[in-house]
Amino acid sequence: MRTLPRDPAPETLAVAAGRPAPVPGGPLSSPITLATALVPGGGAEYTRHDHPTWHDFEAAMGALEGGRALAFSSGMAAVTAVLDLVPVGGRVVVAAGAYYGTTSALADRARRGLLAVTPVDVTNTAAVIAASRDASLLWLESPTNPGLDVADVRTIATAVSAAGTAVAVDNTFATPLRQRPLDLGADVVVHSASKLIAGHGDVLLGVVVTSDDRAHRALLARRSGDGAVPGALETFLALRGLRTLHVRLDRAEANARVLAERLRGDRRVQRVRYPGFGTIVSFDLPHAASAQRVTEASSLIAHATSLGGVESTWERRRRHAGEPSHVPEGLIRLSVGIEHVEDLWADIEAALNSLG
Ligand SMILES: *Cc1c(COP(=O)(O)O)cnc(C)c1O
Repeated sequence: MRTLPRDPAPETLAVAAGRPAPVPGGPLSSPITLATALVPGGGAEYTRHDHPTWHDFEAAMGALEGGRALAFSSGMAAVTAVLDLVPVGGRVVVAAGAYYGTTSALADRARRGLLAVTPVDVTNTAAVIAASRDASLLWLESPTNPGLDVADVRTIATAVSAAGTAVAVDNTFATPLRQRPLDLGADVVVHSASKLIAGHGDVLLGVVVTSDDRAHRALLARRSGDGAVPGALETFLALRGLRTLHVRLDRAEANARVLAERLRGDRRVQRVRYPGFGTIVSFDLPHAASAQRVTEASSLIAHATSLGGVESTWERRRRHAGEPSHVPEGLIRLSVGIEHVEDLWADIEAALNSLG
């Protein structure tokens, strides 16, 4: 790797971390390798165990989060790799408003008698700390998807980790540019890199970062054994996306601030959730039908699921059968992209006007 400045800013890391060693005639940007078998003598020989195209992406993610990163085939593969480190019979405390894939994975393991689950309101710091006593794992997500609840990660993680309970944080919405959970006392950070990290709506990928060597080895063993490994093309594209994360995030966040403010001023909108940072704005319309109509009436903002791309998307979350009932029927999750904010607002206003 090339030498980086001492104590580089995250923006510099996003661009400069995880570059190939400077070899005369060699590539400046990370190349993609599609081979499945590797020449013996260099450690791993088969790409379920290790793959050269993963290394630079993992190095960059590790530098940004302050630990060692492992890429997985999806965000959910990363989530379940961490959940499966919980011993049988253990108890997991989970943010009640966490991503439905995570709460479903926990419910599945609870039904099969593998572990017990205690949901908590992450905005109630004292209650989270109390509920985590004697638990194996505290699973935080902050901000949550799609309720945008924010946890006091530093206070919670410091107290819970000191009491011997492992703390994992799903950092998908904040990204390491807005929140570094390992610095705040967490043991493990998880990402759906399919979202802001890769950033272009064309990659499915997950990441786990930890500074704990034992956890790193255990997660590596899970990834190799279970085979939830990322594709070479996905890690290549995610690294290319990561190079512009800070620029995309700054623009989309500036747009999101303006749109949240204007939505708050619109009498047709019941409640606007925006934590003051990030690119997701959730807002409630009075009924499922009106929310559904609005999301289908936009022309620039795509009516689609997923989030964190350069293009703005929105959807009524409860149209998915698996979305939990605590999410209001009329909640629209808007993923703000990097278009011009006035074009986005004009599109939102026109869609709201379609309600008559
Ligand atoms: C999308 C998402 C996931 C799951 O990631 P996939 O890459 O879709 O498997 C996990 N957590 C959060 C917060 C998400 O938004």
